[in-house]
Amino acid sequence: MVNLVVLELANIMKSLSLFKLSKLTGQNDDKMMDICYKYSRVWRYEYNASKCAVIVFNERTNTGNSRVFRLGSEIVKESESYSHLGITTDAWLSSQMLIADACNKLRGTYLSICSSGFNPSSLSPITLRTIYQSVVVPKALYGCELWTVIGASDMLRLERSHRFCIKSMQQFHSLTNTDFALASINVNSIENIIDRKKLVFFGQLCRLPNQYLAKQVFINRLVRYLNNDKQTKGFVPEIYRLLYKYQLQSCLDGYLQSGLFPSKQAWKQMLQRSVSAPEHHRQLESIRDVCPTLNLDDVLHVDKPSSLWKISRISPKLSPLIATLMAQLGGFLSRSYPTVCSLCGIHTENKLLHSVCFCSRRELLRDSLWDAVIYQKGSQCFIKLIRKTPLKQIVTLFQMTLSTTDDNRLNNQLAILLLRLVC
Ligand SMILES: [Zn+2]
Repeated sequence: MVNLVVLELANIMKSLSLFKLSKLTGQNDDKMMDICYKYSRVWRYEYNASKCAVIVFNERTNTGNSRVFRLGSEIVKESESYSHLGITTDAWLSSQMLIADACNKLRGTYLSICSSGFNPSSLSPITLRTIYQSVVVPKALYGCELWTVIGASDMLRLERSHRFCIKSMQQFHSLTNTDFALASINVNSIENIIDRKKLVFFGQLCRLPNQYLAKQVFINRLVRYLNNDKQTKGFVPEIYRLLYKYQLQSCLDGYLQSGLFPSKQAWKQMLQRSVSAPEHHRQLESIRDVCPTLNLDDVLHVDKPSSLWKISRISPKLSPLIATLMAQLGGFLSRSYPTVCSLCGIHTENKLLHSVCFCSRRELLRDSLWDAVIYQKGSQCFIKLIRKTPLKQIVTLFQMTLSTTDDNRLNNQLAILLLRLVC
């Protein structure tokens, strides 16, 4: 069996990787280590054996107990993973450890910020989003520009952690429609964020002056890929995939022909137009598909957080009311799940529908809501409302609550009565 053995040797100032394609043969595996050791003696520098590790790739049966790697007289331990350019990888070159670490950082950093006092009960979701985007995401996605081996299942794990944070900062139930949760606070999916970071890095490389080594390595890789190099994974194939995905390949074609690339500002605008904005439109379309009759034009906007969250930030007194209203709206647009009514004890598939239209223990609250509708909208409007199906009644009530002639576009009285009925 042929194994690839990487000897990762590092001390404070130097790091060195040796690649050896060989059949593992016990004591003879020290030959490469001997070369390193003798070289360090000739050039009078030292390796710290306690900071060095050996990783054996693609080993089907574990024979680690029978072999010993030595650096001079000292034993170098075997490791199951190693970190190179900030990317942690294991002996099978899978991205599992990398993604697990990123997921832990997403949730862990967000929760530690919450426990330090910056939590959803004391800050508006827009402020929390700013903290999340400027502290949590950069920490969790550090080096994501070079993540080129992420599979669909790994991406799903990242998305779950991202959704957990986004829903938590808006105090939404974990089963709330994800597109609604993302659109209401104007945040993209984690895949979209990573894609954009990779394309930003690609733009930086293209604009880098030629004297830099990084630019020379990038051009070398690019030319090798264009000359039909067999490389199927890596930064350049990944960039080609993304440029085709977002229909930006004309930028690379132009760069290869003329050596010119859009300026930083122009590239940023192109990415906003081609990468971020289509994702926002997709989120809004997806919400519209769930309930085509509910017009949310006054609540959700492309490239902006929900106007209700803005009101909540300007008028802190209204923030508990708005948070509950948004949670109910999110729940209405989500998959319903069986639950038991806390007042009458009846099993129901849709709690909102039951509370507003059917619950026998909420008659008084329902009457006061109808009185308010008659008082504000007139008896004709009320008659039209109660002739509708229960689902359409809820849609109309949300509509009345969310879009009125008030300057802050929130019908406080109706919202309070509706939420009293529901909660
Ligand atoms: Zn009930």
